[in-house]
Amino acid sequence: MTFRDLNLKKPLWNALDDLGYETPTTIQAASFNVMMSGKDTIGIAQTGTGKTLAYLLPSLCMWKFSKEPHPQILIIVPTRELVAQVVSEVEKLSTYMNLAVGGVYGGTNMNTQAAMVLLGLDVLVGTPGRILDLAANGSLQLKHAKKVIIDEVDETLSLGFRPQLLRIFEYLPAKRQNMVFSATLSEEVSLFLDDYLTTPVRVEAARAGSSLDKIDQAAFRVPNFLSKVSLLHHLLENEAENSKVLVFVSSRTLADTLFEEMEQTLGDSVGVIHSNKAQNFRFNTVQNFQTGDINVLIATDLIARGIDVTDVSHVINFDIPESPENYIHRIGRTGRADKNGVATTFVTEKDETALIAIEALMQKKLSFTDVPSEVDFTEELLEFEKAKVVIPGKLIKLPKRENAGASFHEKKAKNKKVNVRYDHKKAMMDKYGKPKRKRS
Ligand code: AMP
Repeated sequence: MTFRDLNLKKPLWNALDDLGYETPTTIQAASFNVMMSGKDTIGIAQTGTGKTLAYLLPSLCMWKFSKEPHPQILIIVPTRELVAQVVSEVEKLSTYMNLAVGGVYGGTNMNTQAAMVLLGLDVLVGTPGRILDLAANGSLQLKHAKKVIIDEVDETLSLGFRPQLLRIFEYLPAKRQNMVFSATLSEEVSLFLDDYLTTPVRVEAARAGSSLDKIDQAAFRVPNFLSKVSLLHHLLENEAENSKVLVFVSSRTLADTLFEEMEQTLGDSVGVIHSNKAQNFRFNTVQNFQTGDINVLIATDLIARGIDVTDVSHVINFDIPESPENYIHRIGRTGRADKNGVATTFVTEKDETALIAIEALMQKKLSFTDVPSEVDFTEELLEFEKAKVVIPGKLIKLPKRENAGASFHEKKAKNKKVNVRYDHKKAMMDKYGKPKRKRS
């Protein structure tokens, strides 16, 4: 099947030709006719399956030119990075259409974004909070929205955006087509969708919770941080040479610590990205990773969600992800758009529970590889890895009242209260050198 087999319009075919895309991916082929029929749709698809085009192609195909300055297509996404990415995909697909697209997200000046919205947009992409703020202050009218897409609804809900979504719904017309995409279908997502979609059709790129077939998954048992660093060096020098490597760590502090460690040998070819970095820094880093100026990028989960970097060859889970769903998301950054990828996970002793949860979700065991003999493991632990001595609250006894007294420190001499009887005769002697009588 090629894109010519889908009932698209010429401007879209031309744009796809420019992009060099010929064959629809599974989710694109499976969802196209359902979405074109106008039904509410739930797409179960991980990032990397081509899900963005899966909803953009039918939405743009059904779009009709209108003099209304208010958006007909509203796309709600969880992160700013994803806003930028989806806007760029819309721009590419609409090269041959007379269509205005804009992106809005929090953390930046709202007036500039309000001015852009007021100029008139056909497609608006945004994060829930900022869309709501603009709708609430009257800059954005949502009553003309015909297509409403919520991309990565699982992530949007787990970031706590449920109240904002519900309030956005209040501004939307009752008659609209909803298209919702989620990588996994948790109970929270299912309940949400049951409440807000009208008899939706479910389309799956892969069974919810399953990992992508195109990814070779491997795992290593590693004792601690410094040993992980040695193994990472080894993998980068041997197996992942000249490739694009995304390294996941569990926290922002660890991301910075690992970056400092790796920068010593890799210099400018390693980058780091997490939510504490400024927006410009984040955009530039992703850009440099995309162009290949940086070929190793250290990232935390949240920030890596929205990044669409083509040709990521290796994903390395330097730290195991806390939730099994995140494992699927992380490894989904490689093997994108039907390309092969490698995902490697470092597993320490304390990761056993997380590992079991991942294997249960995938219904597949991770295969462990022996650590090559030339990799030096150490027993040295960094401060954050050392076991903390926890003193149970019960053992901390309060001092008994009778031992403690009113205060534990000595009073200063001037504050000591000493009862001295006033001796008038002595006071007179001290003052006048002779006894002085009171006058009678
Ligand atoms: P997504 O899952 O939407 O994040 O897409 C992953 C990547 O695949 C993006 O860089 C898309 O531009 C690319 N892509 C999407 N559809 C196709 C296709 N049919 N053929 C080739 N690449 C595609």
